[in-house]
Amino acid sequence: MVTTVMPTYGRIDIAFDRGEGSYLYATDGRRFLDFASGIATNSLGHAHPHLVKMVQEQAAKLWHVSNLYHIPEQQRLADRLCENSFANTVFFCNSGAEAMEGALKVARKYHFANGEPKRERVIACSRAFHGRTLATLSAGDSDKYREGFGPRPGGFEHVPFGNLNELRAAMGDDVAAIVIEPVQGEGGIFPADYHYLHGLRAAADEFGALLVFDEVQCGMGRTGKLWAYEWAGVAPDVMALAKGLGGGFPVGAVLATEKAASGMVPGTHGSTYGGNPMACAAANAVLDVMLADGFLDQVIARGEYLHSALAAVGARHPGLFEEIRGKGLMVGLKGHAANTEIWTRLRDHGLLVVGAGDNAVRLLPPLTVSESEIDEAMAAIEAVAGELEAAA
Ligand SMILES: *Cc1c(COP(=O)(O)O)cnc(C)c1O
Repeated sequence: MVTTVMPTYGRIDIAFDRGEGSYLYATDGRRFLDFASGIATNSLGHAHPHLVKMVQEQAAKLWHVSNLYHIPEQQRLADRLCENSFANTVFFCNSGAEAMEGALKVARKYHFANGEPKRERVIACSRAFHGRTLATLSAGDSDKYREGFGPRPGGFEHVPFGNLNELRAAMGDDVAAIVIEPVQGEGGIFPADYHYLHGLRAAADEFGALLVFDEVQCGMGRTGKLWAYEWAGVAPDVMALAKGLGGGFPVGAVLATEKAASGMVPGTHGSTYGGNPMACAAANAVLDVMLADGFLDQVIARGEYLHSALAAVGARHPGLFEEIRGKGLMVGLKGHAANTEIWTRLRDHGLLVVGAGDNAVRLLPPLTVSESEIDEAMAAIEAVAGELEAAA
């Protein structure tokens, strides 16, 4: 059957017409607890009053002007992202893949502008996901996603995630950048070891390459710090953001040090929509909430509550999880049963989660999730554990 929506997704037969906080309401009247958050995107839940207000006010004033002009909302957002990160400069775009494309362009152009045009190689990691454009598919490590879309943009290589020796063996004076997700998302939720991240920083410096972090999924408070790299105390030269940045409004960003962005002079890159007043009103509203005193501390506390609640469920049902991993409110559950079976059963109990690589199920609740909502999610997981045990 030909569908007017190109069938690139195998869609679940539910449609929602309303969301409030951590809950989604389906057109058939059912209510779901949303621990997928539009894939780590609705960082403040659904219909957060402050976001609604700020976006409504902006919508009544001005939507879009293009980057031919100064955009005060964009300037303010860039200032705030820089004040609260390693970066000195920001390029705005509309999605994670576009942010990673921009990050790769910044890195290669840096070397070109500094008299090393042959520095083009990019070293990425096994299991990595960086988006669905041609270049970000090359940076990612999924043959399945690349199949049929050749020829591939060249200059990308993969080394095993977490293995510093293999990374160092791949380095050389032709490497433009090392690219990594500090917490791998789509690959199955694998936090990078802090020593490993320090080792990547040292290798990048030693070989004159740039270090690029893809925090599209793990950034914007998801792990309990604004940036996942803060846990390790290792700053990159370039970082890609999207997902949680707009709280559900499409916006992406490439953050860089002044030095790393030294090749990005007028005319080198662009995006018609990137950082328009609407997107920046949404992202500034997200930052208003996330930068308020105590917000990220609460995310850390809720993350700890979630991890210990999951450990308790795992202890009561030893056959359920092979592994519980992650950081803050970015959790991967590797079950013994197929992840498809686990998430389908969870949905039947009113809990929405999202799948990932390595047969994992991802829990990505809104950062505003309450303890009682976590308890409710645990009850659903416990019920599924009981069903799986009864079926075994
Ligand atoms: C989702 C994701 C992307 C791609 O983001 P899109 O907005 O879908 O283009 C890139 N990198 C990481 C780590 C992601 O999780």
